[in-house]
Amino acid sequence: MTIGRMEKVEVFTSEGKGRGLKATKEFWAADVIFAERAYSAVVFDSFTQVVCHTCFKRQEKLQRCGQCKFAHYCDRTCQKDAWLNHKHECAAIKKHGKPPSENIRLAARIMWRIEREGTGLTEGCLVSVDDLQNHVDNFGEEEQKDLRVDVDSFLNFWPAQSQQFSMQYISHIFGVINCNAFTLSDQRGLQAVGVGIFPNLCLVNHDCWPNCTVIFNNGNHEAVKSMFHTQMRIELRALGKISEGEELTVSYVDFLNVSQERKKQLKKQYYFDCTCEHCEKGIKDDLFLAVKADPKPSQDVVKEVTQFSKETLEKIDKARSEGLYHEVVKLCRECLQKQEPVLADTNIHVLRILSIASEVLSYLQSFHEASDYAKRMVDGYMKLYHPNNAQLGMAVMRAGLTHWHAGLIEAGHGMICKAYAILLVTHGPTHPITKDLEAMRIQSEMELRMFRQNEFMYHKMREATLSNQKMQVMAEPNLETATPTFLKKP
Ligand SMILES: [Zn+2]
Ligand SMILES: [Zn+2]
Ligand SMILES: [Zn+2]
Repeated sequence: MTIGRMEKVEVFTSEGKGRGLKATKEFWAADVIFAERAYSAVVFDSFTQVVCHTCFKRQEKLQRCGQCKFAHYCDRTCQKDAWLNHKHECAAIKKHGKPPSENIRLAARIMWRIEREGTGLTEGCLVSVDDLQNHVDNFGEEEQKDLRVDVDSFLNFWPAQSQQFSMQYISHIFGVINCNAFTLSDQRGLQAVGVGIFPNLCLVNHDCWPNCTVIFNNGNHEAVKSMFHTQMRIELRALGKISEGEELTVSYVDFLNVSQERKKQLKKQYYFDCTCEHCEKGIKDDLFLAVKADPKPSQDVVKEVTQFSKETLEKIDKARSEGLYHEVVKLCRECLQKQEPVLADTNIHVLRILSIASEVLSYLQSFHEASDYAKRMVDGYMKLYHPNNAQLGMAVMRAGLTHWHAGLIEAGHGMICKAYAILLVTHGPTHPITKDLEAMRIQSEMELRMFRQNEFMYHKMREATLSNQKMQVMAEPNLETATPTFLKKP
């Protein structure tokens, strides 16, 4: 296998895990270990008209490619930046009559890049696309069928004048996409809007309690030719101290689950048995399953409430997908009432309901009730997540906003500060979400000062603000998680 060189990391054979990356120097929390541009990336089918095809930012107005009328860009800078990767795609879409689905577009972009640069190592890459794992041998019947459909659609789309690849190679590329593609979010981190391949990132192994996090940064194209101009990239960031020689790890799944469930998910989606310390020892499983201590409920009651929670969650998902938010709230309240005397607040089933309840109630602008649930959720999360976990940071941010909107300025400001501290590590100071959060921190601090000086005046001012302007409406609660993660069809 051919490998490239990168300054602060090196490829090594990790015991029981195959290839891995390790640090060749010491790192501290918030250090960027490496940044990597996408080898290839595409916007999801459902976002092709609202997200820029170069930087994946969601924009009010996008410019359309005059040739294919399919690609959309922020401006000339993003369009120019895209041309090398779009040129062949543009002609092929015109010829094909319509754009193929995201999977096919991504595979085609990868192939055109291979046609252009060869199959060897690309500059800055530690591993070539050829050497990435495809797990095609692990595919079940369904997956084999999907693969054949993808290969057929690809061959249908792929132009005769482009380099021709063997069926086996095309299958390899789809296998690579299937287990290595990384989802990309819009600049507010609210939605997964695209997907890309980042070869170096593929070398970072999983740990349920990792020492790094990976964050997608859309970059800043507006600041052309200035020091603030940055390009779209992922960043591998250290969550704490990492010693020289230590393996670098990220988590492919959300930590918020009992170890048995995480292991099941990892096996199903990524074809390996997790042997991380947290799984081996079942660390925190007791908290995920915790029940009330006094009086301690019987096992039968715990079983019954747990089953009820699972069933309610299914009903909630259905109601939420149909936009029946008041129904969602009703189901949440019922479930919380049933859980209350039995399950403790770090119990995974309680936390799931609290999270949905606070999110949906915020959306419905019932900020007081939402803030109660958000507070309980955050208290639970703090006992479970790594202190610098990105999902924790985002949850604390949303809880802080909810408190702020509810007029609970002290709690709200405290949470916003807490979230800001986490995001400085996980997202870095230049990320748009961190910048938003900093603005909120400054604004809420000012309001808090006013509140402490003169509570009466503060409430007067607040009332005036509220009556003069419609409160900023929260984003519609969506089903999919926006946390960047490795893409895998469930
Ligand atoms: Zn753009
Ligand atoms: Zn075009
Ligand atoms: Zn694990």
